[in-house]
Amino acid sequence: MKTLLKNIGNLVGVTDASVTRKAGEAMWNLDSFSDAWLLIEDDRILDFGRSHELTDVFVACADKIIDMNGQWVFPSFCDSHTHVVYAGNRAGEFLDKINGLSYEAIAKRGGGILNSADLLHATSEDDLFEQAMVRVREVIAKGTGAIEIKSGYGLTVADELKMLRVIRRIRESAPVEVKSTFLGAHAVGRAYQGRQDDYVGLVCEEMIPEVGRQRLADYVDVFCDKGFFTPDDTARILEAAAKWGMKPKIHANELDVSGGVQVGVAYNAVSVDHLERTTQVEIDILRDSSTVPTILPGASFFLGMPYGNAKGMMEAGLPVALASDYNPGSSPSGDMRFVCALASIRMKLTPSQAINAATINGAAAMELGHAAGSIAVGKLANFFTTEPLPSLAFFLYAYTTPMITAVWHRGQAVG
Ligand SMILES: [Zn+2]
Repeated sequence: MKTLLKNIGNLVGVTDASVTRKAGEAMWNLDSFSDAWLLIEDDRILDFGRSHELTDVFVACADKIIDMNGQWVFPSFCDSHTHVVYAGNRAGEFLDKINGLSYEAIAKRGGGILNSADLLHATSEDDLFEQAMVRVREVIAKGTGAIEIKSGYGLTVADELKMLRVIRRIRESAPVEVKSTFLGAHAVGRAYQGRQDDYVGLVCEEMIPEVGRQRLADYVDVFCDKGFFTPDDTARILEAAAKWGMKPKIHANELDVSGGVQVGVAYNAVSVDHLERTTQVEIDILRDSSTVPTILPGASFFLGMPYGNAKGMMEAGLPVALASDYNPGSSPSGDMRFVCALASIRMKLTPSQAINAATINGAAAMELGHAAGSIAVGKLANFFTTEPLPSLAFFLYAYTTPMITAVWHRGQAVG
């Protein structure tokens, strides 16, 4: 089955198939073809070009031709850090925050992650799946075509496995690429309060072997930060997970300069995420690694925290990624266009840099750069279309104006 999209106003995010990430100066370039066509075969991009180069051969081979009438085509967003599987919401804590309590104070009162764990425990697996699918469908409609989803609101063996099974169901049923991450060390479970060492033992000796045996996770994550897990705890967990082939993706430097970047890089982390409080020392360490620094401006916005030093990282030649951190406590939104707008407004990324960070580099932070994140021959035909736009900047400038007209996954229009 071949589908030809013709009269595309702008085909954004074009690369060679060999491009799997963009680092440093390369992030300035978001190559685009104005007045373009795109040919899809089954689930893949077969070819593309400018309208004046569209020969009869391409037109004749198409089973279906769609006139885009100047609409734009973007590669789907690749959201490499989310917690979309959770029960209920934490709007009550939203009020606490308005009334001045800090994230740490709310966590100390037994709220925060433990509150979400209690709710998740009381929610059936089917309900949890349905609630998560509402969010997944929402982010697909907003242009996300690949998503990483973490466990971490279970905090017991049974409930962590329950979350990971829900993530597997999402992978099997939703039109989106899904990567699964085991985050048993998101917080110390309620039954282990005051016994952090014992809880880390539970994660290493019971949770990880069971997750590994059932092949429920691609990655392992640890909340390595002040008030949560130490670099030593983190190393212990990463050692245990490595035996089951789970590579690290680490929560680091959100609340303090935590040592999480160092331990992540030491264990060849695919990404280190958050990085609101990163110094030149961490940037220098990342330069000597293949780890993708991933910044989550939605959490900075919601919690009133500093924004990560994305410009410093790009100047050091790093491949910065952007992700939503969609979760009930610190970033209740998975809108990647808003994440890009925040990156431009608050971190001074150009729209091209922001979109590269949210597409090709997000794909790299999920080891999907070979298949997703750009418009390239042979990559998956995962993209969204918009109304004709006056400029690329307008897409992020008018960040609440509805513009997305359709979403395509693996060569099919899905919304
Ligand atoms: Zn997170």
